[in-house]
Amino acid sequence: AIDFKSIVENKSAVAENLKNRNSSADLELVIELYERLLALQKEVEDLRFERNTVANKMKGKVKPSERQRLIEEGKNLKDKLVTLEEDLVKLTDALQREAQCIPNMAHPDAPIGGEDNSTIRKTVGTPRDFTFSIKDHVQIGKELDLFDFDAAAEVSGSKFYYLKNEAVLLEMGLINWTLSEVMKKGFTPLTTPEIARSLVVEKCGFQPRGDNTQVYSIEGTDQCLIGTAEIPVGGIHMDSILADSSLPLKYVAFSHCFRTEAGAAGAATRGLYRVHQFSKVEMFILCRPEESDAYHEELIEIEEELFSKLGLHFKTLDMSTEDLGAPAYRKYDIEAWMPGLGRYGEISSASNCTDYQSRRLGIRYRPESSASPLKDTKKNKGRNLSPPEFVHTLNATACAVPRMLVCLLENYQQEDGSVIIPEPLRPFMGGIEVITPKL
Ligand code: AMP
Repeated sequence: AIDFKSIVENKSAVAENLKNRNSSADLELVIELYERLLALQKEVEDLRFERNTVANKMKGKVKPSERQRLIEEGKNLKDKLVTLEEDLVKLTDALQREAQCIPNMAHPDAPIGGEDNSTIRKTVGTPRDFTFSIKDHVQIGKELDLFDFDAAAEVSGSKFYYLKNEAVLLEMGLINWTLSEVMKKGFTPLTTPEIARSLVVEKCGFQPRGDNTQVYSIEGTDQCLIGTAEIPVGGIHMDSILADSSLPLKYVAFSHCFRTEAGAAGAATRGLYRVHQFSKVEMFILCRPEESDAYHEELIEIEEELFSKLGLHFKTLDMSTEDLGAPAYRKYDIEAWMPGLGRYGEISSASNCTDYQSRRLGIRYRPESSASPLKDTKKNKGRNLSPPEFVHTLNATACAVPRMLVCLLENYQQEDGSVIIPEPLRPFMGGIEVITPKL
């Protein structure tokens, strides 16, 4: 349920938003198709009315010659209707296809422009001062026997990896620790299907088709591998009307994520930084529209708390309009210092998608507001028939494992080649305090 009426009514604001986001969506074409659709819908309705009138006349007493004329008229109208209804389906498809490209509006405070215009909201910690010559995670992993990239390249292709030894425990420890921390905040834990229908993927704002798609499609089916748990979690409440009292719904989901990383050539690809498959713990909230800005703040604060507890040095960014992607209204990324790589790297992303996903997924709720049109009478007790509204959805990374491994191995490396495990993770990985070189 894309809000075409609002697109037409706010045409200049939508056009400005497309410019700010550097979007190639064709607004003029969307409006033209929408207006054609409205005209065609009206034509179809009028024809149906005419056909019903003819059918009703036939039910009454009519002369045989008049009956014959009515039969012919009815048949003509039916043939015309079939053609117009076919046109209606085609036009609706064309409109939906074009309209999919129109991104969400942006928060008025989101910095306008490209990557360099993103602003720093907060900085936590400082880069660690090393008194010895440092290694990157690839070298550390090699010396401590933590990964096998070569075998993975043979078995699966480039940008895949095996984790080995303590790296496996570190992955599991990170996942379990993160889940338990976020559950303490009242989030419901989930594991999810890792294959989703292309339609659901699309409704969440991802493009399963095209040359530059990030999505792996499964040949011969209408299904894809998920790029993030946001897709199956967003889909849980698809096509439903939630009770006002059930909101907010807060989920923390573990899943594997699969990405083609098309178009990422030239970007940092060494080691674990950019891979095709990874584990991720993702937070997802469905809430009342007026509360989404506040939950966005809550999500970024949870991320900042998690990464602080792990002792990372990072900065939180308010992402510029060109970096928002289609569904986000506002997005906060966190970039952490990766000493071996010698730069900051993105470790998480928190987005408020307002009603962009819920409109497409059909997730609404019935507000229990004083504005309910029903009178407070005995007969209406317990009933609430205020019209349903779309919820807002938000998503945020709690832990994307490979980049956390990069951070932890590079930041906690010691001169003797060992790596210290941050305290909070130790109980979640059998009490291991330090990864030492194998003999
Ligand atoms: P996104 O869903 O694109 O916002 O990504 C969420 C987080 O997943 C990012 O902040 C990264 O930490 C991580 N991530 C994204 N893509 C990859 C990848 N190809 N390999 C490893 N980690 C990734």
